Amino acid sequence: MLTTKNSNQLYNRSLNHLVGGVNSPVRAFKSVGGNPLFISHAKGANIYDVDGNEYIDYVLSYGPMIIGHVHPHVQEKVVKTLEKGYSFGATAELEIELAEKVCGAFDGMDKVRFVNSGTEAVMSAIRLARAYTKKNKIVKFAGCYHGHHDALLVAAGSGLATLSMPGSGGVTEGSVQNTLIANYNDISSVEQLIADHDDIAAIFLEPIAGNMGVVIPTDEFIQGLNRIGKEHGVLIVVDEVMTGFRSMFGGAQKLLGLKADITCLGKVVGGGFPVGAYGAREEIMNCVAPLGDMYQAGTLSGNPVAMAGGLATLEVLEKESPYDFFNTYAQNMQEGMLSLANEKGIPLQVNRFGSMINPFFTGQEVKNYEDAKGCDTNKFADFFWKFLEGGLYIPPSQFEAWFLNTQLNDTHLNRTLEAFGKAI
Ligand SMILES: *Cc1c(COP(=O)(O)O)cnc(C)c1O
Repeated sequence: MLTTKNSNQLYNRSLNHLVGGVNSPVRAFKSVGGNPLFISHAKGANIYDVDGNEYIDYVLSYGPMIIGHVHPHVQEKVVKTLEKGYSFGATAELEIELAEKVCGAFDGMDKVRFVNSGTEAVMSAIRLARAYTKKNKIVKFAGCYHGHHDALLVAAGSGLATLSMPGSGGVTEGSVQNTLIANYNDISSVEQLIADHDDIAAIFLEPIAGNMGVVIPTDEFIQGLNRIGKEHGVLIVVDEVMTGFRSMFGGAQKLLGLKADITCLGKVVGGGFPVGAYGAREEIMNCVAPLGDMYQAGTLSGNPVAMAGGLATLEVLEKESPYDFFNTYAQNMQEGMLSLANEKGIPLQVNRFGSMINPFFTGQEVKNYEDAKGCDTNKFADFFWKFLEGGLYIPPSQFEAWFLNTQLNDTHLNRTLEAFGKAI
């Protein structure tokens, strides 16, 4: 049994003044039952809780820690930066350097604006798409998550529902009335919306869906979006907050052949510090203040310490180019899990793309939100606790991607499959 005495003590204390004991809901372990673990520290591929348990970390702060925890290059750059001051409210050279690196990695991204989170990046991209096109409506896909901004916090209606209902308390009907829902991997659902509405500014998507579990787009879907973007003057906003710099240096859009008008970034681009970004070709970005009339600002935007963390992380990724390694590791993990589950007759699907991987407890292929919702989430909850006991720290939800980092090796892979086999 896992020792959780100290975690439980902190959890009870946390409940007094933190809502549900957390600052972001998934951390409360609600969908797997039991109390959340409290973390004391992390290093390389490992994370440690306050009871001294060691785990291989497949959560990686939900994505950012792609080169592992406390990487020496990041540590050095961040500490050096920190010593020169924390925040100036003026542009510093590190912002230019990170902008050069990011724009250089994405085709057609001439300019970028740094913000403090993925949510803020997508929220600004909505405003920018509307300012540039002078149209109001936006399309999102059921099961895609784009942060907690009102206009995209919309529960998917069934099938081709075009009328949106707010997916959260406190979101007014007014703020989602211009949001239309389509089905992932179903280009006809997008074509239908385009036929029915003439006021569509942009289509928002995760190029690889990662927030309904990992779901891979079909080539037909991607090519369909390219065609619709071109023929109907609708902007394609590619939310690469999760995927950016994860499956290649740059975005998944390039691997998929998806043409982005606006790209949103977060997570890896800050290397564990609060950084988000949105970027596009010059003509679009010039709509943003101070050049254009689309207002968007931030006291801590481009914070030097955060820029240093992001820049150092990208430097390591560019130098090491770990993307073949990620593919191999993920492939071995997928094959190992499938064969272990198969031996025991447990229905399992494993979707993966680059350094994102996701076992689904279902016998059906998972290609959209409906498929994902068909998974056995009770079985996932059981497995979750067994994985923890086996030393694997994985996301406490069937619908969160597992992430790989560059510090993993064959020993980790073997330990992972051993723990998986025991749990099964
Ligand atoms: C995590 C995520 C966001 C939100 O980013 P935050 O930094 O949590 O605000 C937006 N889009 C996608 C695809 C994400 O995975």
